[in-house]
Amino acid sequence: MLFRKDPCGIICVLLTYSMLLHCLYVVLFVLILPLLNESLFGTLNALIICTLIFLSILSHARAAYSDPGFVSLPKKGLDFSDVNTNASTNNLLKPNEEGWTVCNRCDTYRPARSHHCRLDHHCPFLCIESCLFGIFVITVFVDQIQSIINDRSLIDALKLDESSRTSQRTLPPKRVLFQNIFGSGPMILWLFPCDLKSSNKITDSQDTYNV
Ligand SMILES: [Zn+2]
Repeated sequence: MLFRKDPCGIICVLLTYSMLLHCLYVVLFVLILPLLNESLFGTLNALIICTLIFLSILSHARAAYSDPGFVSLPKKGLDFSDVNTNASTNNLLKPNEEGWTVCNRCDTYRPARSHHCRLDHHCPFLCIESCLFGIFVITVFVDQIQSIINDRSLIDALKLDESSRTSQRTLPPKRVLFQNIFGSGPMILWLFPCDLKSSNKITDSQDTYNV
């Protein structure tokens, strides 16, 4: 087991575990228990999500705390001082006594039997993972847009009974719905995170409630 006291890494690990546990909490206590409390389907879903979260944490922990293996430096000092002075590329590939060479693509010392990998960051598994992450981001984006247009999130819709879920509602125009989320400024500033308007200005907007 390997543990490095790197503050950034420790924060990332804690964030990862807290996100997974938050996901477990939301699925169990917000979705399954209130909605599917007494059904076999709910029990099955709870078992599946618990198993997936457990396997995720276990896989992450095994990957994070395993020794990745380090290439130990040769006992004798590396001396390739004549590499850059000699124009012949054959000398670049000539190994020293312990088999070390200098890579002629990235000028890095490399141990015996290693070679420059042009597929770095482009292996099939990383490509599949990138595609899956892209699909995840698109799904979240579409879900958010759908929630804004319907003025109701998917979870809110699931919490309603069948009749009120399918009943027709009179919704304001889509532009008004988007303005409720992004602010009433010009559309070009909708994604700008700072409010340019004076915050202490009293308005009689319908979004202001008396408490
Ligand atoms: Zn290289």
